[in-house]
Amino acid sequence: MPVDPLTDEQREIRELVRVLARERIAPRAHEIDKSAEFPWDVVELFRENDLFGIMYDEEYGGIGGSSLMTLVTIEELSKVCATSGLIIAVQELGSLGIKLAGTDEQRQRFLPRLASGEWLAAYALTEPGSGSDSAAMRTTASRDGDTYALNGGKRFITNAGVAHIYVVFAKTDADAGHGGTSAFVVEADAPGFSVGRIEPKMGIKGSTTGEIFFDDCRVPADNLLGEEGDGFRIAMRILDRSRPGIGAQGLGIAQGATDYALEYAKSRETMGKAIAQHQLIGAMLADMETKCEAARGLLYKVGQLIDEGGEGQELTKLSAMAKLYCSDVAMEVTTDAVQVLGGYGYIQEYPVERMMRDAKITQIYEGTNQIQRLVIAREMVKENRAFLLAGVG
Ligand SMILES: Cc1cc2nc3c(=O)[nH]c(=O)nc-3n(C[C@H](O)[C@H](O)[C@H](O)COP(=O)(O)OP(=O)(O)OC[C@H]3O[C@@H](n4cnc5c(N)ncnc54)[C@H](O)[C@@H]3O)c2cc1C
Repeated sequence: MPVDPLTDEQREIRELVRVLARERIAPRAHEIDKSAEFPWDVVELFRENDLFGIMYDEEYGGIGGSSLMTLVTIEELSKVCATSGLIIAVQELGSLGIKLAGTDEQRQRFLPRLASGEWLAAYALTEPGSGSDSAAMRTTASRDGDTYALNGGKRFITNAGVAHIYVVFAKTDADAGHGGTSAFVVEADAPGFSVGRIEPKMGIKGSTTGEIFFDDCRVPADNLLGEEGDGFRIAMRILDRSRPGIGAQGLGIAQGATDYALEYAKSRETMGKAIAQHQLIGAMLADMETKCEAARGLLYKVGQLIDEGGEGQELTKLSAMAKLYCSDVAMEVTTDAVQVLGGYGYIQEYPVERMMRDAKITQIYEGTNQIQRLVIAREMVKENRAFLLAGVG
């Protein structure tokens, strides 16, 4: 048995998620991909089994609020359906701003309905001219009495059109760079809010990715998170805690592809024996499994760090590393899984074809892997390791 850091209670929750994934979600995964329709039945299944509750403290109606357990849940679901894993990952992404920067009143107002799954959440940072370069954001928010008026638009927003609340970043001071950004909770029924085009995509097809617009959109001043100007800092604190969720999605896809390729390789025969017995296939399977296990070690370490209250440079670096490594493993391993299946791997009837398409996005969203490498290198340069070199001639 692999060593894992879960408590007995957490293992029980993982077992419940595994059973739901295997028995209820796996049989739906192909259809979700084919229809490209948001799977409300999966949301209902999560509601009935309290899976949203895993991300929230008991005082808000959740069952604990453990980051490690959230990662395990996303991983288990993504083994069979990356779209379903993403529903949990984005609920956390859209909730973190309220958890980290919300007042007691804001937490009481929003978190219980997110914990039950009655409401879905979204996180809206990206704009047409502002992806990796978040400082180039153009959406504005200006105070007008008891409200803010938001103007502009966001692009590529996961859960567009299905979310009830959007945590939106906008400029309250256009000349102040990052320090001029503020964060708001925008409710889907706010006057002046609308949803635009939903994008057709390569993978995670059941998830909606779309434009949202603010046309003099009126948001109560009570929905400002933190103070005016805190927005960029909030966005980055969120990403430190949400990027591992994308790592978990990548790891789940990779492990699901490895498991499928292994079973296939045990039963497919060529030249008188199972292909798993051919050394070149065996070596591929060994590399796939090793990468998954290494990725899991890194991922669970960051989950534990968050649960222990980790902050700052250590968290920023480890979180970027987990997202980077797990998503690169997802792409490598799913590509190899297709290879193990030969021609069948390229055919839509076999799930590794979908898994390879789903894996790609994990290298792109919540900061591309180029950006993760920049973040890791930046944190490394800040570290002082000179003492380690003492005496090295
Ligand atoms: C399916 C999907 C779902 C998404 N969901 C959300 C969401 O819910 N909320 C949200 O806010 N956003 C979301 N995004 C947006 C996503 O986070 C951005 O697409 C991503 O951060 C990259 O931004 P960009 O597309 O503008 O690419 P660009 O920033 O234009 O980058 C283009 C290329 O240049 C590279 N690059 C850019 N700058 C540098 C640099 N300084 N050094 C080296 N290389 C660099 C990038 O790595 C990339 O390869 C989603 C995107 C997709 C496709």
